[in-house]
Amino acid sequence: NSRFTSLPPTPPDEPFAVNGAYIEDKDPQKVNLGIGVYRTADGLPWPLRVVEAAEEHLHEAKNVHRHEYLTIQGDREFLRLATDLVFGAEAKNSTQLMTGPDRDRVVSIQTVSGTGANRLGAELLARNIQPGCVWIPDPTWANHHTIWELAGVQRKTYPYYNNASKSFDFEGTVRTLSKSAKKNDVIILHACAHNPTGADPTQEQWKVLSELCKEKGLIPFFDLAYQGFASGNLEQDAWSIRHFFRCEPKLEFCVAQSFSKNFGLYGQRVGALHVVTSTVNHQTSQNLLGTLCHLVRGEYSMAPRGGSEIVRTVLGDKGLKNKWFDDLMTMSQRIQQMRQALYDELIRLKTLGKWDHILKQIGMFTYLGLSETQVMKIRSRHHIYMLKSGRISISGLNESNVKYVAQSIDDVVR
Ligand code: PLP
Repeated sequence: NSRFTSLPPTPPDEPFAVNGAYIEDKDPQKVNLGIGVYRTADGLPWPLRVVEAAEEHLHEAKNVHRHEYLTIQGDREFLRLATDLVFGAEAKNSTQLMTGPDRDRVVSIQTVSGTGANRLGAELLARNIQPGCVWIPDPTWANHHTIWELAGVQRKTYPYYNNASKSFDFEGTVRTLSKSAKKNDVIILHACAHNPTGADPTQEQWKVLSELCKEKGLIPFFDLAYQGFASGNLEQDAWSIRHFFRCEPKLEFCVAQSFSKNFGLYGQRVGALHVVTSTVNHQTSQNLLGTLCHLVRGEYSMAPRGGSEIVRTVLGDKGLKNKWFDDLMTMSQRIQQMRQALYDELIRLKTLGKWDHILKQIGMFTYLGLSETQVMKIRSRHHIYMLKSGRISISGLNESNVKYVAQSIDDVVR
């Protein structure tokens, strides 16, 4: 008898389970709107052109060190460029790095992509600050719950989405946090392109949220998984973080940065955790970095180097960086076109309900507004796969399937 027989079954991760069900489905018209990955107009994965160019550079360089260990902190040049991307370069084509005392407020470490950055940040805070709880948006990327559960921090939610207006529930969020959040509680914020709703706070609302964090002594924790991918504009997508960074008196916060979506490097696991301190103190920064390195060393020694070398090569070269901007535009514009196409088709069909939120929400996802019953119906009748919340990944749409998807939505909402 195995000593593991008493293990309880674990619920499957929904996006991966939906993807599995889609793969099993033999219907030729099937459509996958479940998984959050970019797809081309032909429904295929897209290795970015700039990534292929960087891979060629790296291959030609035949660097004998290319398979050596990184340091525990990671690739320092990659980190410098990654930090600059989040906090620094104000002008679109700038490769200028953030310098001076501002840079010294940020302690950065390479991570196993965005998930690893979320996890490491959670572990850091759980062990060293012991927050009373973490405030997680309802709804959110489901893994936030798993990550903070594993870190052993009590989880509470704030109402993120207003179903009636199909937008960010600003009043609900402020009301809940003002009433119940306590000093040193953590608050998870999606820096842009909120997953799953695609609904973000406005700049004015971000300003109020930053004031609230200051007043209450909260620790903001930004999840930045879609910089540049959401709007095509790196500065716009990092606006919230840069605003929090500039706040006076200074805020302390974390940023979990992912390069999965904006570089299409999903399986390479490229990311960074940035911890922003309120004061610049060399010893404090050293100790903070040491603590992060200690956590990483005991888990997996250091992040992988294959993907971070690609990102470093691109961000460190003006020509390649410009190519990357073009690739970001290609992806974000295709998504925007598909939002428009779906909306136009639903309007043409006079489908029951209001659909303008499809155009207003941004990034990879839209919260369609279908009930769970309708989601199940569209799956069984039409072989269209989405999360049970009605979240669809817009990039699963293309010219060949968007009419079919709209007709199928039209069918299940009647
Ligand atoms: N955070 C959010 C909000 C996401 O949507 C995702 C991916 O879907 C991630 C983090 C992490 O992705 P990765 O670990 O691939 O960087």
